[in-house]
Amino acid sequence: MRFYYGPSLQIVNKINCKRKKMAQNPFENALSQLDHVSEVMNLEEDIKEILSKPQRMVSMTIPVKMDSGEIKLFDGFRVQYNNYRGPYKGGIRYHHHVDLDEVKALAFWMALKCAVVDIPMGGGKGGVIVDVKELSKGELERLTRGYAKMAFDIVGPVIDVPAPDVNTTPEIMEWFSDEYNKILGKETPAVITGKPIEKGGSEGRDKATAQGGFYVLEEAVKEYNLEPGASMVIQGFGNAGAHMARISDAAGYKVIAVSDAEGALYNPEGLDIETLFEKSPGGVIDRNAVKAEEISNAELLELECDILIPAAIENQITEANADKIGAKVVLELANGPTTPEADKVLFGKNIPVIPDILANAGGVTVSYFEWKQNMENEKWSLAEVDEKLSKIMKGSFVEVLERAKKYGVDLRTGADVLAIERIREAAKEVLK
Ligand code: GLU
Repeated sequence: MRFYYGPSLQIVNKINCKRKKMAQNPFENALSQLDHVSEVMNLEEDIKEILSKPQRMVSMTIPVKMDSGEIKLFDGFRVQYNNYRGPYKGGIRYHHHVDLDEVKALAFWMALKCAVVDIPMGGGKGGVIVDVKELSKGELERLTRGYAKMAFDIVGPVIDVPAPDVNTTPEIMEWFSDEYNKILGKETPAVITGKPIEKGGSEGRDKATAQGGFYVLEEAVKEYNLEPGASMVIQGFGNAGAHMARISDAAGYKVIAVSDAEGALYNPEGLDIETLFEKSPGGVIDRNAVKAEEISNAELLELECDILIPAAIENQITEANADKIGAKVVLELANGPTTPEADKVLFGKNIPVIPDILANAGGVTVSYFEWKQNMENEKWSLAEVDEKLSKIMKGSFVEVLERAKKYGVDLRTGADVLAIERIREAAKEVLK
C-alpha cells in the first residue's frame, strides 16, 4: 500500500534549492495569471480586486514535544482564499520550503480548480514548515494534532475542509480528524478528506489525481491527434506521477522516462512500469529494478516525446528551458509547474499545456465525493467513483477548450476564464 500523496520528497528538495535561487514567487505567478485572464474576459475591476487577495489567512505556531523531551515550535498556515462557491477546500502541505506566498498561490489555484470542475467548494490551502524526514512517526502525529488544535476554530465540514498535499498522507488525515472529533466531542468525518477507507475515506481517492488527469488526457489525445500508443515522460514518481505512469502504461501508452530527485530513468522502448511501481514506494525510484539509461531531470524535461507530465512541484518549465521542451502536449499534474513566461513560449511553439487547475483536479473532485459520502452517510463503489470522475473531467476539458477557442487563448487562460465566470456568478449572489 502506498502512503505518500505528494511528489518524490527528494525531487522536491533538490528542485526547491534551485527554485530559491531563481526566486520565482508562486503568488506573483498567480497574480500575473489573474491580470491576464481579467484582460481577456474584461473582468469587472471589483471582482478582480477581490480575487487578488485571500479572504482570511491564519499563521500559527505549533509547539511539539519531540522524542527527546524538548519542545520545538513549528510555523504553520491556513489560507482561506475564497468561499463564494462553497466551503474552502484544499490540502495541507508539509515541507521545509513552505512559505505564506506559496500557500496563498496554492489556495488561489484551489478556488479556480473547484470552479473549473464545478464542484461546490471554494479554495483554501494549508502548510507547515517542516522537513518530514527529520521527524519520527510520533513527532509527526503530535505535530498534526497540534495543527488540528490550532485550526479547530476555522475548519469544519461547511467551513473549510482540508485534505492531503505534498508529504501528507491518509494516516495524517486520520490524526487530524481524530483530534478534531475529540475537541468537538462528536464524530465528524466530513471535516477532512483523503482519510483511509476504513476511517470514512473514499474508494479511488489514492489514485484520483492521476485518474482524473488520465480522463482529461483521453480527450486531449483525440483533440491533438495523438496515437493511442503515444510516448510519455513523467517528472516525479510520487502519488500523482507513479499512478499516472501505471494507469497510462496499462492503457497502452509508452512511458519512456520517469524521475525522482536523483535523476531520471530513460528507455526509448518503454520502461517496465509495473515493476517500477511495485519497487519504488514513497516516490523514490529503484534504479536497479528495470532496464534503462540514467539521465538528469533537466534532460528528462527536454526529451522528444508526445506527452510530458510534470508531476512534482512549481516552477519546472521556465523561461530557461521552455524553448527546449520536446513534447507535443504538456499535462500538468503538479500545481504551478509552468511559469507565465514559459506559458508564452509554449503557446508560441504551438505546444498545448493542459493546465493544473484542470489536469490535476481529479484529486479534489474525489475529495468532494468523499465529503458528500460522509455528509450523506453513503458509500460509493470504485466503479461509481470512476464513472462520476470521468464525466466531470471529460466535460470540463471540453468546456475549457471551448473557452480557449472562443477567446483565442491558451488552455490555462481558457480554464481561468471558465473558473472566474463561475466565481463571478457566485459573487453576485454573495455580494447582493
Ligand atoms: N492537494 C490536492 C490539490 O492540490 C487535493 C486537494 C483536496 O483534495 O482538497 O488539488
